Amino acid sequence: MALSSYFRRHGQMCASHQWEVIVSIITFTVCMLTVNDRRAALHWPDRAPCKIPQEYFGADAVVMTAVRCIALLYTYHQFRKLRALGSKYILGLAGLFTVISTAVFTSSIINFMHSDMTDLKDALFFFLLLIDLSKVTRLAQYALASRRLDEVEVNIARGMQVLGPQMTLDVLVEVLLISVGTLSGVYRLEVLCCYACMSAVISYLMFMTFYPACLSLVLEMSSDVGSETQPWQLKSLTNLLQEDEQKPNIVIQRVKIIMSIGLTFVHFVSRWPSVSTDAVDSVFGAAAGPGSCDAPIPSPYSVLLRWMSVSAEHLVVLIIVVALVVKYVLFEAPDAEQIQLKVQAEDQAMLRALRPQLRRRCTSVLITEDSDGEVKVDELPPPAASTDASCQTPAFTGAESTAESAAESAAESAAEEGTAAAAGGERETEGEEPAEPAPPRTLDECVQILEDEGPDALSDAELLVLLRARKLRAYQLEARLGDAQRAVAVRRQHVTETGRLADALDELPHQGFEYERVMGACCENVVGYMPLPLGVVGPLLLDGRQYYVPLATTEGALVASTNRGCVAVRKCGVNSYIVGDGMTRAPVIECQSARQASDILYWLETTDGFHAVKAAFDSTSRFARLSKVEVNMFGRQLFVRFVAKTGDAMGMNMVSKGTEKALEHLQETFPGIFVTSVSSNVCTDKKPSAINWTRGRGKSVICEAVVPAEVVTSVLKTSVPAMVNLCIRKNLIGSAVAGSIGGNNAHAANIVTAIYIATGQDPAQNVCSSNCMTLLEPWGETGEDLYVTCTMPCVEVGTVGGGTILKAQRACLKMLGCQGANTDYPGQNARQLADIVCANTDCPGHNARQLADIVCANTDCPGQNARQLASIVCATVLAGELSLMAAQSAGHLVKSHMTLNR
Ligand code: NAP
Repeated sequence: MALSSYFRRHGQMCASHQWEVIVSIITFTVCMLTVNDRRAALHWPDRAPCKIPQEYFGADAVVMTAVRCIALLYTYHQFRKLRALGSKYILGLAGLFTVISTAVFTSSIINFMHSDMTDLKDALFFFLLLIDLSKVTRLAQYALASRRLDEVEVNIARGMQVLGPQMTLDVLVEVLLISVGTLSGVYRLEVLCCYACMSAVISYLMFMTFYPACLSLVLEMSSDVGSETQPWQLKSLTNLLQEDEQKPNIVIQRVKIIMSIGLTFVHFVSRWPSVSTDAVDSVFGAAAGPGSCDAPIPSPYSVLLRWMSVSAEHLVVLIIVVALVVKYVLFEAPDAEQIQLKVQAEDQAMLRALRPQLRRRCTSVLITEDSDGEVKVDELPPPAASTDASCQTPAFTGAESTAESAAESAAESAAEEGTAAAAGGERETEGEEPAEPAPPRTLDECVQILEDEGPDALSDAELLVLLRARKLRAYQLEARLGDAQRAVAVRRQHVTETGRLADALDELPHQGFEYERVMGACCENVVGYMPLPLGVVGPLLLDGRQYYVPLATTEGALVASTNRGCVAVRKCGVNSYIVGDGMTRAPVIECQSARQASDILYWLETTDGFHAVKAAFDSTSRFARLSKVEVNMFGRQLFVRFVAKTGDAMGMNMVSKGTEKALEHLQETFPGIFVTSVSSNVCTDKKPSAINWTRGRGKSVICEAVVPAEVVTSVLKTSVPAMVNLCIRKNLIGSAVAGSIGGNNAHAANIVTAIYIATGQDPAQNVCSSNCMTLLEPWGETGEDLYVTCTMPCVEVGTVGGGTILKAQRACLKMLGCQGANTDYPGQNARQLADIVCANTDCPGHNARQLADIVCANTDCPGQNARQLASIVCATVLAGELSLMAAQSAGHLVKSHMTLNR
């Protein structure tokens, strides 16, 4: 523990004093290079190059070739590992930087030692074998996982804390093992082993000083101050760092320690007394400096090299010792593992106690251990400009993608090493892969926690356990969690898992959507949202105003074609007329007899009867006003079609609510009747029907325009007679042959549906809303121009309620200048007065409401926005009709679709 905290402090020092560390090391290197010449002149006079004995040449070549191949394969393997870590380039560059900087410093030392630089070409291969890129890249991962600049220092320190002790031990074992290579008897191999040892040590020193300093400096320089997400941050790293957070395998650590002790002992005892001066000299000469064969120089190098020059039999002994030690530690010392498991279990128990605290927080927390060993959880200050996404990313982002793993790693750190780590939410950031969840608790535990502490205390994995066991229902997630975003994420996992859908939902976006508006209004069991392309046509000149109309569609050519229609009517403009306004709901009532049914029918046709029902109906809404009741009698059944104005709302819910109230009154007046359903198919909603076509539903709109002959020729590329002829044969005769109801048009449904989706209408209502008759006539004194009308009796639209509450849909309504409730109409004060009268009377309000109706009738009622939208729908349909019918009459239809729709 003490060693770990030393490495952490050391890492923090390097990361916070980058310039000092970098400059010191570079100065040291330059000094060595400078001092080298003088020192060489004084103490290391040129000597004749050492002659390599002839008998070593064959073995030398074979061994060195093998070493080179292995080094290259190993390097390749290391880089493949980097790729698997999630970054092909950034981490690779970090690794490459270490390789190069270590090579530079090694060569400066070799130069300082006046060694033969030509050996470096082979030393490089050794060096490749030695350098541990995984540690280097791990440290880079720690740094790159920082979300803010001030986290870099902490994360580097944390990385050093985790990696430093392992790295130190690894280097120690590495150096001792490599020095065994000098026992090979192959001269060149022995020399290179000396270089390899030196490289390993220098690489280690680089890793401990120069590298973290450079890493910190580079990130500091590339930091985007004030930005929530730094440019270097790699989301893919997040879950990988958990591995580092796991404690190193204690058994392996022990093996390494025992190996290093054994190797040191073997080197010391078996080599020192038996060293042969001649043998050492031959090696030393090449390693320490040219010409050393003739005049060995007593120095620390000579001592080191003497240790390495032992015969091959020592190697065999050493291998046997190592094998025995490994066997002993791995297979005959299970206690250590048990102790380790116990410690982990204790840590996990502690974390469970902390988990609710951790998970409820959106901000980062800091877990620390005080001097008494007590674990504390403190909130970290939230980052500047924190957002939903940012609160899901804890301070130490590398290790905390899931609350559980984060909390565990944090507590492990805290409990064992007294250091800080942060934990945060379990949810993912935009576009990020979910991190591997920690193992969930048992079902019984989860059920208990759900009951006692609520779902906040459970991880996502544990919620999935409950969903699988049906202890929690997927549709309840939003209500139970109180966090729609998390609910959606969990439901996605549940659906994917139970439906065995693998990565099916990966490309369906779900982050950052306004689920709070969706819930209880627009959709249930949500797993994401559906992005659609949105085109725009216009300007469309309608009733003297210009509109840009949004169309959400995936049908290529539709927007282009409709836009051409807008161009065609740009000069002449389109005029619209709302000829009907009434949303309908028609219940089916079973009467006791046909007589009773006919009594009711007549009663409803009387003024008193109608007003009684209307009073009940209107009492349910501030805006829904019953305008008529259409009664159809079949046998003893009554189909009563309630027709009401619904202000700016499309009004289906409003009329349903009003109808239910009116039926209550009817049942009180005529006991014994039975309402089979509030909705018969006479309404008719979302089904083709003649009743809607002839009587209208929603807004009934007619648009007209006179397109000049030259526009028909120049813009629509056809002629008036051709278009009129097509209209008769297609929209009238063709539709009659087909037995179509309301289908006397070219493609009204295309435009209706695209506008409905864009503006948050109920898209299924395109069924009746698309009913349209498009008529073309020759116009003017000479009949040169084209008169066009579109009649749409059932445009079911609203600018409040339903999908119009969502942001994107509201934006589209704003484009059309009709978003929300229209308050800009005369009579508002009078209506407010009527409401006051209503409030002051303690009757059900019949008289006051009558007054309100009178006031309403004398002014423009609310609903202007919805009416404007209906007009825009119809006018855009007219534009679309012109363009498509022109294309068909000119024979361009297939060609344009081949160009724009394939
Ligand atoms: P709604 O959102 O259910 O009701 C409109 C709400 O807006 C009412 O509460 C109304 O007040 C209020 N409002 C505020 N200002 C208004 C204004 N200027 N004009 C009109 N209302 C105003 O919307 P809806 O149009 O009745 O129903 C649309 C939804 O019904 C859509 O989601 C659609 O998909 C769905 N739908 C339902 C059925 C069904 O059978 N029920 C069928 C098809 C579609 P008040 O409370 O005072 O009325």
